[in-house]
Amino acid sequence: MKKRAASDPKKRKALIVVHTGDGKGKSTAAYGLVLRALGNKMKVFVMQFMKGQWKAGERKMFDQFDGLEVDALGDGFTWDTENPEQDKATARKAWEIIKPKLLSDEYQMIVLDEINYILSYGFLPEDEVLDTLRQKPETLHVVCTGRNAPDSLIALADLVTEMKCVKHPFKDQKIPAQKGIEF
Ligand code: ATP
Ligand code: MG
Repeated sequence: MKKRAASDPKKRKALIVVHTGDGKGKSTAAYGLVLRALGNKMKVFVMQFMKGQWKAGERKMFDQFDGLEVDALGDGFTWDTENPEQDKATARKAWEIIKPKLLSDEYQMIVLDEINYILSYGFLPEDEVLDTLRQKPETLHVVCTGRNAPDSLIALADLVTEMKCVKHPFKDQKIPAQKGIEF
């Protein structure tokens, strides 16, 4: 049997985590980490790039936690690939909120939900986002979710999981989104 690599249990390293792939569970796994961090009295910030002001089940619960700040892009906003300039402006607006938080010492976990999607469409410049991630404090975990994570982000990350779709109720049976599972 192979011996496990020796590791120092006291060594702390904040991680860059990526959840990507075409299967379900990228965002919900990130929210699982949020719960875990909050249980450890860590301060957490979540930016939901795709959800707008509409409150899915998790958002209703999030309101009840101290130590958790959540932001989402404005009302009625939809990403419109027909109008990339507008999408870039919206992504920029979100990024101006996120960037100072990434560089501050205020949080121990930041979740950027669906940022991979934003990067893969070029709505935010990859270099700028990655440079900021490189400068983040050593005490801050960052979780990036979404399909099509760019290779450069995967290379920078410490923990990358690809969700693989084996079966999906909508794809395979046209079963619509179910409460408690999708929202
Ligand atoms: P969740 O937020 O439930 O963890 P996710 O973050 O992994 O899902 P997204 O790419 O954000 O998935 O997609 C959001 C929606 O698309 C969800 O309602 C999800 O169920 C649905 N979805 C995910 N994978 C598939 C698939 N392979 N086929 C069809 N729909 C899918
Ligand atoms: Mg998601």
